[in-house]
Amino acid sequence: MSYIDLADGWKMPAPMKNEDERLQALYDLDILDSEAEESFDHITQAVGKILNVPISLVSLVDKDRQWFKSCYGLDATQTGREESFCAHALIKPETLHVADARADDRFRGNILVSGAPHIRFYLGIPLVTSDGHAIGSLCAIDTKPRHDITKEQLLTLSTFAQLVMTQIELRQRNKKIKASNAAKSAFFAGMSHEIRTPLNGVLGAATLLKNTTLNSKQQEYINIIAGSGRLLLEIINEILEFAKIESDTIRLHNQSTDIRAAVNEHFTLLESLADEKDLNYTLSIADDIPAYLFIDPTRVKQILSNFIGNAIKFTPANGRVEVSLTQQSPDTLRIKVSDSGVGIKGEDLNTIFKAYEQILERRAETKSTGTGLGLAITKYLVQLMGGTIGVKSKFGKGSEFWCDLPLIESSADNAVAQTEYDDDDIISANITANILLVEDVPTNQFIIKSILNDLGCNVEIAENGKVAIDKVQNHQYDAVFMDCHMPVMDGYEATKKIRKLDINQPFIIALTANAFKEDEDKCLASGMDAFLSKPLEIAKIVKILQQACA
Ligand code: ADP
Repeated sequence: MSYIDLADGWKMPAPMKNEDERLQALYDLDILDSEAEESFDHITQAVGKILNVPISLVSLVDKDRQWFKSCYGLDATQTGREESFCAHALIKPETLHVADARADDRFRGNILVSGAPHIRFYLGIPLVTSDGHAIGSLCAIDTKPRHDITKEQLLTLSTFAQLVMTQIELRQRNKKIKASNAAKSAFFAGMSHEIRTPLNGVLGAATLLKNTTLNSKQQEYINIIAGSGRLLLEIINEILEFAKIESDTIRLHNQSTDIRAAVNEHFTLLESLADEKDLNYTLSIADDIPAYLFIDPTRVKQILSNFIGNAIKFTPANGRVEVSLTQQSPDTLRIKVSDSGVGIKGEDLNTIFKAYEQILERRAETKSTGTGLGLAITKYLVQLMGGTIGVKSKFGKGSEFWCDLPLIESSADNAVAQTEYDDDDIISANITANILLVEDVPTNQFIIKSILNDLGCNVEIAENGKVAIDKVQNHQYDAVFMDCHMPVMDGYEATKKIRKLDINQPFIIALTANAFKEDEDKCLASGMDAFLSKPLEIAKIVKILQQACA
């Protein structure tokens, strides 16, 4: 072992042969200068107690310093590497045991021995990564010489050192998983945006075509295009939602909600699907449920949509689908959907709430489609809302899906108006507004302009935010439809700039292919007045224009 003499009775170990690799292994763990973590502090505390020492450290030896991930009994975060005992512990594959530093040539003159904290006893176990690099040590320190350390204490310290190293590596693996989940989520969000943009074109064109004179065959084809487009959109939303769940970025937006109206609305929306199969489709809402609940209405609808959608899908013609809301206890709301459908075999009941699981056999029988993510998403949402989910089923007879959600009574005064629009409604409104459409994609320009023209509006186009800023200064528009993602200048920046102009401020409506609450919040925060997600629905455009021109 070679040492560098620093002073009489003070030596520092010469750099190790593979010092660069060792340092790289330490840096790859991404732990230096991180926040304190309880799990490490518990270990140093335990070492202090078990070895009966005043100081215990998880020390990581950097190029010129030792940095403490955890520090029990010492008020410091780091010291120089020259005076580090732990740097000595590194170079030995086994324990560094110094019973009395004053009697040891390597440490007698060390400033941590001659000065505070006056180290006498040191016992350190190297922390070795799974690929063999010693990155630091777990150590016990006393200000008195100690010759009384037992084998059992030594073994305990060794076990703790392994635990620290496992924790450091798991911590790093966890961080990587989180980062890759975030990357996956960003990828899905990006893909969803990419897919929604052309889908906007398809659905928009189908809507425009529907308004022209068509023979019955053509009408049928258009319905197929529109129906398939909407299905595709639902699937994209489901995948995106699941990616958000995996990256833990879903937030609830609880608000005072007219629960009867919300459930009724959604029940009715799915009625046409039940009618196609001549199902006995019923809804009952118990009288004792308060009129207004403090709950996230979008999530309630999502849960209903999954339960009811599945019940209709897996129930043959002329069967029964019953939706009920009851008060399970004074503070629990039960949503239950039961059906007389194909049912689920006992062994399959455990897997249906897991992601990607679809009972393939069932798929073939019913020729059903779906991502297999619906119930996994529903279970996650129910748990996020503080509830529980369950299922009972008899194969061949039918199923019963339910969830119990916290029931918090609210009042009408706090209620947020819920507006739901019918996708299919082509409203023959006549709105003579002057509109600036800020949109870079030519297909979207054409579709949106055509829809607005059909409604009776005058439309000018700006291909990016910068052009829009010029235009609003020279013309008075009743409303600006602002795409969010555009080259040169995006919609957020353009809106912020427009809001600073000394002009008669226009009503600005965000147009975005991103469909989530967070996206809406971002638009509103940049100064926009309203939010429309693509593919655009005519009924929503009409409502918002009526608001803009009011
Ligand atoms: P999917 O998108 O495939 O419907 P879900 O997660 O919603 O995904 O459902 C998973 C599987 O659970 C379905 O493919 C189906 O086999 C089964 N399942 C769900 N609901 C019912 C039901 N009401 N009756 C029978 N089987 C059902």
